[in-house]
Amino acid sequence: MKKVITDLDVMGKKILMRVDFNVPMKDGKITDENRIVQALPSIKYVLENGGKAIVFSHLGKVKTEEDLEKRNIEPVALRLSELLEKPVKFINATRGKELEKAILEMKDGEIVMFQNTRYEDLDGKKESKNDAELGKYWASLGDLFVNDAFGTAHRAHASNVGIAENIGVGKTAAGFLMEKEIKFIGGVVSNPTRPLIAILGGAKVSDKIGVIENLLEKADKVLVGGAMMFTFLKAQGKKTGLSLVEEDKIELAKMLLEKGKGKLILPIDTVIAKEFKNDAEFRTVSVDEIPEDSMGLDIGKATIELFEKEIAGAKTVIWNGPMGVFEMSNFAKGTIGVCESIAHLKEATTIIGGGDSAAAAIQLGFSEKFTHISTGGGASLEYLEGKILPGIDFISSK
Ligand code: ADP
Ligand code: MG
Repeated sequence: MKKVITDLDVMGKKILMRVDFNVPMKDGKITDENRIVQALPSIKYVLENGGKAIVFSHLGKVKTEEDLEKRNIEPVALRLSELLEKPVKFINATRGKELEKAILEMKDGEIVMFQNTRYEDLDGKKESKNDAELGKYWASLGDLFVNDAFGTAHRAHASNVGIAENIGVGKTAAGFLMEKEIKFIGGVVSNPTRPLIAILGGAKVSDKIGVIENLLEKADKVLVGGAMMFTFLKAQGKKTGLSLVEEDKIELAKMLLEKGKGKLILPIDTVIAKEFKNDAEFRTVSVDEIPEDSMGLDIGKATIELFEKEIAGAKTVIWNGPMGVFEMSNFAKGTIGVCESIAHLKEATTIIGGGDSAAAAIQLGFSEKFTHISTGGGASLEYLEGKILPGIDFISSK
C-alpha cells in the first residue's frame, strides 16, 4: 500500500506538492480549470492542517525562449488564489534566492507556488530528463513530498521521481487525486471485483495494443467498438469498405481474436455513411454487409443491445475509447448507448480511462454516472497496460 497524504504529519512542515496544473490555455487565459479544481482537496488539507504548501506543476512543453512567455504558469496561481480564497505567493523562478527566501518566510497555512517546472527544460531538459542535481535541489526546499500529479505519473521527471528519490525514506505520499487513481485504475488491473467488463474503442488498434492485451487477460469480457473494430472485422475476413483499418495490424488482430476467444466481443452491426460528415446520409447495416463505398462511423442498435446485455451483469466496468465518432451527433448513439448501459448499473464500480472517452462522457452529460473519470490520458492508458508508473512507484509504501 502506498502512503497517502493523511499518513503524513504536515503540521508546521514545508510540504512540496507536485500537482497537475497542465491546463489548456488560450491567449494567457485558462479555458478549462478542471485540473486546478481536482488539486484543491490535497492543497486544502495541507493548509488546514497547519502545513506550508509549496505548489508546482509543469505547463505544456518548453523548448524555446518564446515558450517561456507562452507557458508562464502565473495565471494558474492567480486562479488558484481565487479558488482557495487565500493569497498565493507566486515566484517567477524555479530555483534561486527569491524562491528560497519566500519559503523561509512562510507561516503555517500559507502557500507559495513557483514557476512552470519545465522552464528547467530550456537548458538541457533538466526537468524531463530527471537531472540528478535538480531533483536533489527541489527536495532540499521541503520536509515532505506530496505527489498528486497522476497525469505525469507515467514519466520519470525531476519534479516527481527526482524529488521522491532525494527527500528521504518514508517522506513521499500520494495526494487525494493520486490516491483515487491508484484505487480505481490501479484496482482494475490488480484486484477487480468480478465480473470485470472492459469496453474498448477509439481510433486505433495501434494506440491500444498493450491495453487490449492486458485487459484480455484481466477482464471477463472485452467489448470492442470504435474505429478499431474494423481492423478486427477485416481480420475475420469481412469486407470493411472505407472504414478505418490498420492493414499492418491485421495479423495482430488475428492473434488477439484467437487469444480472446469467448471473451472478445465484436459488434454485429454498424452505422455507415459515404462521407466523414455529420450531414452525410447514414444507415445501419450488418457487419457482413458493409458496402465498398461506405465507412462505419458508429456501432449499430443491435450491438448497443448486445453490449447492454454484457454490461448488465458487471461488478466493475472499465471503459476506454468512444464507440463511434461521438463528436458528430449522428454517430454518437453508440457511445450514448454504452453510457446509458453503464448508468443503469446499481452496484458496480464504473471507470473511464482515456482523454477522449472522458470528454465524451462529460459532453454527453453522463459524468455524474461514473464512479471515477480518470484525469490522466496517457498515464491511465499505460496504467491499464499493466505498466508500473514511475510517479506512483516512487511514492513511499506504508
Ligand atoms: P481515448 O482518448 O479515450 O483513448 P482515442 O483517442 O483512442 O480515445 O479515440 C477517440 C477518437 O476515436 C474520437 O475522436 C472518435 O471520433 C474516434 N472514432 C471512434 N469511432 C470511430 C470510427 N468508427 N471511425 C473513425 N473515428 C472513430
Ligand atoms: Mg485520445
